[in-house]
Amino acid sequence: MTIVDTRTPDPKKFIKGDTGDWEIVIGMEVHAQVTSKSKLFSGASTEFGHEPNSNVSLVDAAMPGMLPVINEECVRQAIRTGLGLKAAINNKSVFDRKNYFYPDLPQGYQISQFKQPIVGEGKILLDMSEDEQVEIGVERLHLEQDAGKSLHDQHPSMSFVDLNRSGVALMEIVSKPDLRSSDEAKAYLTKLRTILRYLGTCDGNMEQGSMRADVNVSVRKPGGEFGTRCEIKNVNSIRFAGQAIEYEARRQIGILEDGGSIDQETCLFDPGKGETRSMRSKEEAHDYRYFPDPDLLSLEFDDAYVDALRVGLPELPDEKKSRFIADYGLSAYDSDIIVQEKASADFFEEVAKGRDAKLAANWVINELFAYLHKAGLDVATSPISAEQLGGIIDLIKAGDISGKIAKDLFEIVCAEGDDPKKIVEERGMKQVTDLGAIEAMVDEIISANPDKAEQVKEKPGLLGWFVGQVMKASKGKANPQAVNELLHKKIGIE
Ligand code: ADP
Ligand code: MG
Repeated sequence: MTIVDTRTPDPKKFIKGDTGDWEIVIGMEVHAQVTSKSKLFSGASTEFGHEPNSNVSLVDAAMPGMLPVINEECVRQAIRTGLGLKAAINNKSVFDRKNYFYPDLPQGYQISQFKQPIVGEGKILLDMSEDEQVEIGVERLHLEQDAGKSLHDQHPSMSFVDLNRSGVALMEIVSKPDLRSSDEAKAYLTKLRTILRYLGTCDGNMEQGSMRADVNVSVRKPGGEFGTRCEIKNVNSIRFAGQAIEYEARRQIGILEDGGSIDQETCLFDPGKGETRSMRSKEEAHDYRYFPDPDLLSLEFDDAYVDALRVGLPELPDEKKSRFIADYGLSAYDSDIIVQEKASADFFEEVAKGRDAKLAANWVINELFAYLHKAGLDVATSPISAEQLGGIIDLIKAGDISGKIAKDLFEIVCAEGDDPKKIVEERGMKQVTDLGAIEAMVDEIISANPDKAEQVKEKPGLLGWFVGQVMKASKGKANPQAVNELLHKKIGIE
């Protein structure tokens, strides 16, 4: 591929070496398992967690004479993903054989796409901060088969092979070398996963291996020639990708600053040690002897087929974010957080419907997300529904409860369920707006603390102590604004 450098070097992202600044250059090859019931060229199930070798058809086991038949659902999903990445869709693509020997690859080759992939150039936008958005180029997306799995830990002297994954459809999504820091790389994986999940084309579950990344890393003097890269294979968590890049970049800088040169290598990341380790050098690289698979016709469809899929696409995170900013007046930052998962965005919209949307966003982000995170839950398993959270917000808006009581109420609803309004009434949590009652409490506290009241006249900053006392006396139920006004009046400060 010819590489065009689209990025202006940014000193914020440089790494300091002994000889000056360095810039990291990263390109990603992400393997995303296509969400479909059956495999790319056979009818066997793709479901995770079955007994080894129970989801294997004769095609997946590469029995002689078996012929692959393309699964249209996988083609549709690849096109939909391409559309979601704003990419060019190729109406004609070709399946090739990528030849290599490995025990978990019974065919002796993987069916993949090489020169003519189904999807061409696209892009992914990353919001790095409120005022920094970067565009990362997507080079291509192609369809290919997954291999099986060798199991080396089942028997003292033998390895076993599980072919359940053999033939499962993968999309390989290749980025341009446009990423310039480990943070950008993590943001790229996060955003790509979000888009795939919105589209429903891959579940993005990295722990189960349905999304894995090969991370290509090189370093250079800022804005200089691209350096030689190392490819870190099969990284299965976003956090590990970040750690691997930080380690690998520093390793390369160390070698270059000592006057050495970088060998083009394939490495593995060891999360335990936090290090990358060489697997093979360029000389040992495979010669895959690609050629078009004679068992398969080229894959062709017309524009109408693509257009129909385009019309059926859901609203994607970038569009949703813009809409939340425009329609609900949310900050870019808040919308970004909320749209990261479609379920969160839906939840927010349900809470915000007919209510103060900014307040709704605050509650979703600051209380709900924090609570779910702590409890190890997500929006789908949230103990509080959008309707219940909306009910709490209504009580705040009506002046029935203070913000402080609302937080207690939130905890109660999460723990016990039930209608927030009913809880407030039954447990006497309503805010005291009765001025006479608040006045009595204010008087009592002032007369019990005459010297403090004198001090406040000199140092109005001490008023907070009185507010605290009244709130305590009212068990947090006094209307804070009324308390403040009464204290000013009674003590006699401006
Ligand atoms: P190959 O086909 O040999 O794997 P590609 O040219 O397809 O190589 O690139 C694979 C990945 O490596 C792409 O994601 C690309 O962006 C990335 N890449 C290419 N050159 C560099 C480089 N100098 N530094 C970092 N990443 C690179
Ligand atoms: Mg490649």
